[in-house]
Amino acid sequence: NPIIIWFRRDLRISDHVALSKAIETGRPIIPVFICDPIMEALGAAPKWRFGLGVEHFAKTLAALGSRLILRRGEPLAELRDLIRETGADTVYWSRAYDTDAIARDRVVKAGLQNDGIDAQSHQGHVLFEPWSVANKSGGYFKVYTPFWKTVRGRQVDACLPAPKSLSPPSEWPESDTLTDWQLGRDMRRGADVVSRYICVGETNAQARLDAFLDDAIGDYQRERDFPNKPSTSRLSENLTYGEISPRMIWHSAYVAMQKGAQGGEHFLKELVWREYAYHLMYHFPALADQNWRSEWDTFHWLPDNENAERWRRGMTGEPMVDAAMRELYITGTMHNRMRMIAASYLTKHLRTDWRVGRDWFADCLIDWDPAANAMGWQWVAGCGPDASPYFRIFNPATQGEKFDKQQLYRKRFLLDDTRAEYRAFFAAIPKSWHITPSTPYPEPAISLADGRKAALDAYAAMRGGV
Ligand code: FAD
Repeated sequence: NPIIIWFRRDLRISDHVALSKAIETGRPIIPVFICDPIMEALGAAPKWRFGLGVEHFAKTLAALGSRLILRRGEPLAELRDLIRETGADTVYWSRAYDTDAIARDRVVKAGLQNDGIDAQSHQGHVLFEPWSVANKSGGYFKVYTPFWKTVRGRQVDACLPAPKSLSPPSEWPESDTLTDWQLGRDMRRGADVVSRYICVGETNAQARLDAFLDDAIGDYQRERDFPNKPSTSRLSENLTYGEISPRMIWHSAYVAMQKGAQGGEHFLKELVWREYAYHLMYHFPALADQNWRSEWDTFHWLPDNENAERWRRGMTGEPMVDAAMRELYITGTMHNRMRMIAASYLTKHLRTDWRVGRDWFADCLIDWDPAANAMGWQWVAGCGPDASPYFRIFNPATQGEKFDKQQLYRKRFLLDDTRAEYRAFFAAIPKSWHITPSTPYPEPAISLADGRKAALDAYAAMRGGV
């Protein structure tokens, strides 16, 4: 009987444990992707980008003599239909660790096992499964550094090779077509503009990793905070759809480090922040919605407001923040330092609830990751584990002096220039967001000093129980 492999955020054939286990059995394989309610609920940009990943992956499978069967609906019902149609008695998948996916997968596993199906999940989306790392008293890590120290010397299994072919079933079941799903329908910005910045599929992801190892890893520690330099790997986009495994990145960076690449250890440490995000979300499933520190439930966050709308549009009058927000809108991504600056400005100077920012990032980021985004927002806002303290408020102006001294980053995303490479940027932005000599740059939404003071007062009020 055939084996069904249910693909989700693991759109690759190399280093794929579930796929390798299925191949070992010698049985026919039916690869399946289901557009389920979790996918339907994704923000505009990640949903669109996910669709491109699926399209690309279907071609990869076709080159192996196989097919990706597409279905839409509740996974348990869809898998049951497929089992009935194909005679499959086994379903494998790669484990996911975010709260919604865990709830979904529990229902599927219990339902299939109840039907007598061999339903198995396998590792692959993280290096260290959340439950495999514990502190001395058996609990989870509430601070990053001891988490890192616990995992850094661990043995990580070798990567698995990509198969050359996949054994097909005697007959293929029916499949939807991707165009039926219209995954790009919510893209308000021009998908053709964001397309210039994406890197889809595992071959491209591997090339991206190789380029980073060849050109940038040596200077990573020194250069990674400068948003106008191509000094980070940009692999978050591929990691989130599983187009590359964290294990492939880990081993490659380890080898580079042993050959003397200066930034190697620092890079691995950043990669492990992603692991830590899943560790936190697994142990605190409400990470994306609730303040991890419950005392923050009494903080006077402002709900969505006019200044938050200026923030989304890159019109706050703070050039570092506005450039960051436009980078996000146009390219579908944002440099890590700029994420911190933009998030700090929203939650501190504008005192807006971090969940307002979480939602905009979830709508715009092509590397949106349920755990990393939630952890990032709680970290900046001050209400998360190992968070940056609330009273440490990023000053966008001094950050600009430090990390964008020549203003190249700000110019790149703010100026309405007529040069060809700028035109694509500005084609993506609604006309009312343009900054030109005739529409002068907006006055700041709030002075940095006033915003800082109001934030600190609100923090003092929370601490004083007012
Ligand atoms: P590199 O510097 O090359 O790092 C390598 C890999 O390490 C990254 O690809 C990523 O997987 C991981 N990593 C690095 N820094 C972090 C971090 N702080 N937290 C978690 N993992 C990290 N990252 C996402 O992948 N998706 C998100 O939705 C997301 N939202 C964020 C929201 C906020 C408010 C903040 C402050 C950070 C967020 N991050 C998110 C983390 C980080 O900004 C990105 O992972 C990073 O910018 C990706 O660029 P890169 O691949 O070039 O990273």
